[in-house]
Amino acid sequence: MYIRVTEIPGGGLDVFASRGRASIPRILEGMNPAPLTVCRLVAADLLLSVDSGDILAEGSFEAEGESPCDRCSEPVSVRFGKAFHTVLSPQGQGPKGTGPIELHADDLDVGYYDGKGVEVNDIFWEQVALDIPVKVVCSESCLGVCPACGANRNREACSCESHAAPGPFDVLKNLKGKKE
Ligand SMILES: [Zn+2]
Ligand SMILES: [Zn+2]
Repeated sequence: MYIRVTEIPGGGLDVFASRGRASIPRILEGMNPAPLTVCRLVAADLLLSVDSGDILAEGSFEAEGESPCDRCSEPVSVRFGKAFHTVLSPQGQGPKGTGPIELHADDLDVGYYDGKGVEVNDIFWEQVALDIPVKVVCSESCLGVCPACGANRNREACSCESHAAPGPFDVLKNLKGKKE
């Protein structure tokens, strides 16, 4: 959904209130949400306003997706979201007044636009990409997969441990035992 600067009124544009919310579940279509396998927005809000040529984008989103468990690879549902506040300056010009470093100190994102308008999907892609959970586990107590036989240890107890070759710590223990 492309919004031209000239379409943004003085009081700001509530994008989804004026254009409808039907597009929200499709905003992330085409995005690679890795390491998630799927990801879509379930809620989104965006208020665009113009200040001396800069576009201010204030919004929030809630996304849901699926990720393989980092330990056992079983699919896990994830839900995440946040509020954001971004200043988009016309390409090639710095934000007016304060420098980008000062703006960052206020926890404000700074970006650019082509001077004509903004693609709403891109604004959300960027915010979602920054927030995608990178390590998801199905449970803090997930036992993972046996490296020897590939069995999911949450579901079956394999007997690999008893046949495993001694690890480096066992060797150290033996050496210590011999010295004492
Ligand atoms: Zn797991
Ligand atoms: Zn095993």
